Amino acid sequence: MACKKDHSNIQSVMATLPYDQGGRGRHKCTACAYEKGYELGLQMAEEFSIADVLEQLDESQAQQQRHKSPHAAFALGYFKGVEDAYK
Ligand SMILES: [Zn+2]
Repeated sequence: MACKKDHSNIQSVMATLPYDQGGRGRHKCTACAYEKGYELGLQMAEEFSIADVLEQLDESQAQQQRHKSPHAAFALGYFKGVEDAYK
């Protein structure tokens, strides 16, 4: 199912992500991958598999996140989450 969430608040972040039209997770919502990464980063979570996390996400939607790398989005989200965990 295609993602129906409003990702308008993170469009500027999505615009900076690299394109990735191949590989695992290519049809997954990159904005959701970013948000999931942020959530896990904030918790400093270590026991998870990125492949499993991406697998559970909704399908991609249009806008800036289309055809962007969900792995890069997840990593960037995690990075920001860890940063905010120490604020
Ligand atoms: Zn989404």
